[in-house]
Amino acid sequence: MKTCIYPGSFDPVTNGHIDIIHRSSMLCDKLIVAVGNNINKKYSFSLEERVELLNIALKDCPYIEVAGFSGLLADFVREKGVRIIIKGLRAVSDFEYEFQMALLNKKLNPNIETLFMMSNVNYTYLSSSAVKELARNGGDIGGLVPDCIKDKVYEKFRMGI
Ligand code: ADP
Repeated sequence: MKTCIYPGSFDPVTNGHIDIIHRSSMLCDKLIVAVGNNINKKYSFSLEERVELLNIALKDCPYIEVAGFSGLLADFVREKGVRIIIKGLRAVSDFEYEFQMALLNKKLNPNIETLFMMSNVNYTYLSSSAVKELARNGGDIGGLVPDCIKDKVYEKFRMGI
């Protein structure tokens, strides 16, 4: 069974992520969406909330598993017995960082292959930070995140977090 891992912060998941998830799940039998928890990063949504939002958005997808992880992605990938990491690329600005991470992961675990998938042209401008900025300021996030999680995203910022 071919399994791939799609890692990220998903703080929160956007339709740009969902698009990459659906397109990459066609390349494998099972896709693990790996939700990172880096102690040096400040998240708006807790790990549990980020996992929950993804589970809600992907509830009809039996071949997709959502899993939280802390520590190195290379270790998580090894632990899961997976070789392929999928990353989304929005623009040239994403490339430098992603290129560095791919080479670093390759050095840590030579079995890992990182595949880059081009963003859907409709979501190239979309990021979790943009969604949060809109939600925090009462902007419309319709079409930017899955409809089924929209209220939960607004709710988070109504509480002034
Ligand atoms: P961000 O906080 O930048 O929105 P994440 O760390 O959650 O993103 O991203 C996880 C992965 O999804 C990365 O590979 C990132 O490049 C990719 N990604 C994020 N947003 C999009 C988008 N709109 N279209 C395609 N890929 C995306």
